[in-house]
Amino acid sequence: MTTIGFVGLGHMGAPMAHNLLMHHQLIVYDVIPEAADALASQGATVAKTLAQLAQSADVIITMLPAGQHVKDVCMQEDGLFAHAKPNALFIDSSSIDIDTSRALSIIAHKRGFGMIDAPVSGGVAGATAATLTIMVGGLEKDFHRAKPILELMGKTIVHAGPAGNGQVAKICNNMILGISMIAVSEAFTLGKKLGLDAEKLFEISSHSSGQCWSITSNCPVPGLVPNSASNNHFQPGFTADMMLKDLRLSQNAAHIAAVSTPLGAEATALYALFSSLGYGQMDFSAIIQMIAGK
Ligand code: NAD
Repeated sequence: MTTIGFVGLGHMGAPMAHNLLMHHQLIVYDVIPEAADALASQGATVAKTLAQLAQSADVIITMLPAGQHVKDVCMQEDGLFAHAKPNALFIDSSSIDIDTSRALSIIAHKRGFGMIDAPVSGGVAGATAATLTIMVGGLEKDFHRAKPILELMGKTIVHAGPAGNGQVAKICNNMILGISMIAVSEAFTLGKKLGLDAEKLFEISSHSSGQCWSITSNCPVPGLVPNSASNNHFQPGFTADMMLKDLRLSQNAAHIAAVSTPLGAEATALYALFSSLGYGQMDFSAIIQMIAGK
C-alpha cells in the first residue's frame, strides 16, 4: 500500500481522491479546510500543511486550477519540493501551461523526484466513475510507476511523450471542446428558432455526423442528457472561467508555434465576453444562453 498525498480537492480532485481511498492510504490538503474535511469523513487523513503532506507521502497528486497554483505549492519555501521524500513521485493532473509544467519537471528531476504531467478529460462524471482519459507527459519510468495509480482514477491512460506533452494534448483537446460547445449551442438555438424540437435535434444529431461530447455528455439544453450541468441551472461541472483559461493556453501556444487557429481564437473571444458579463463561475455549457440572447 502506497501513501498518496492529494492536493486540491475541488470539483475534480475530491472524486478522484475518493477513488484512491479503497486501495491506498490517503493524506489530503486544500486551502479550503471544508474540502479536506469532506475527504476525512470518507477515511483520508488531513494534512495541516503542505510540508506535513509531503513528509508522509510516497506519491503526490496535485489537482489545482492553474500553473501559478501548481508552481506555488511545489516551489514555495515550505512547500512540497522542500519536504518531499527523496524518491517521491509527483503527478500533476491540473490543466496548466506547457512551460510551467516542463520547468517543474526539470526541477523535480534535479532534486531526485519523479514527475509526470497527467491532465485529465471526462469531467466530474468521469472523475466520479473513474473513467477519465488521462494524458501523460514524462519519462517512461515515471509513467510506469504512476500507471497503477492512474488506473484507479481513469480508464484510458495514454503516454503522450516527454514532459509537457500531456498538457499539449489537454489544450488541443479542450480547444476542440470549447469550439464544439459553441457549435452545439448555435445549432440548438437555430433549430429551435426554425421550429425544430430540441428532443428531435438531439435524437438525430447524437446519431449523426454532428455527434460529439458536447451533445451526448454535457448537452447545453436541459432535459436531454442525465447529469448534464444544464439540468441543474448550469452549476459546474467545468466553469466557463476554466474553459477560458484552457482556450487562452491554446492561443498562447498557437502564437508561439506560429499555427493559425481561427476557430480557437473566436471561441476564446466568446468565452472572454461571457466571463466579462459575469457568468464565469457557471458551467461552460451555459454559453448557450448568451448565444440565444437570454
Ligand atoms: P476547482 O476550482 O473546483 O478545484 C481546485 C481546488 O484547488 C479547490 O478546492 C481549491 O480550494 C484548491 N486550491 C487552490 N489553490 C490551492 C493551494 N494553493 N493549495 C491547496 N489547494 C488549493 O477546480 P476543478 O474544476 O477541480 O479543476 C482543477 C483542474 O482540473 C483545473 O486545472 C481544470 O482546468 C482541470 N479540469 C477540470 C475539469 C472539470 O470538469 N471541472 C475537467 C478536466 C480538467
